[in-house]
Amino acid sequence: MDDIVNILSGSYKTVTFRPGDRFYWSPETREVFYDRSVQQPQGLWSLLHETGHALLEHKSYQADYELIRLEVDAWEKAKALASDLAVTIDEDHVQDCIDTYRDWLYARSICPRCGNKSLQQANLAQYQCFNCHETWKVTPSRFCRTYRSTKHAQKANFVFRLADES
Ligand SMILES: [Zn+2]
Ligand SMILES: [Zn+2]
Repeated sequence: MDDIVNILSGSYKTVTFRPGDRFYWSPETREVFYDRSVQQPQGLWSLLHETGHALLEHKSYQADYELIRLEVDAWEKAKALASDLAVTIDEDHVQDCIDTYRDWLYARSICPRCGNKSLQQANLAQYQCFNCHETWKVTPSRFCRTYRSTKHAQKANFVFRLADES
């Protein structure tokens, strides 16, 4: 992985690569963080995926429905980078990541009161149900939910009821 990081940082001077505790792209600081402890080749694939976000200049805080397209685009870019580096990214892994992401976004949009699928509000921080008018907050949209096995643990963190708070 360090070899590939060296190649990437040599090729893309406007992006900074830093070791971290997970994989993500920070558009504000133009940094790609990567986790050295993840097994290979999955770690390398994630590194290339985050680099894809970076090279495509993706920003966070976009509407949820747009994020799926950005995820797909970042994987396409990752595959192009991979072929330049003679690395093969497993297509099942890519589809699994995108499915997990789609599930996560879908779960955010389901009304906690009545189960209706709802629309994200213009401020992107909350959803409102047009059936029962419940509103709920969501954490800012983030790129890259990659692992199905952690889906349920994450679920508890990203939906907050507003109704019970005031
Ligand atoms: Zn509802
Ligand atoms: Zn991503």
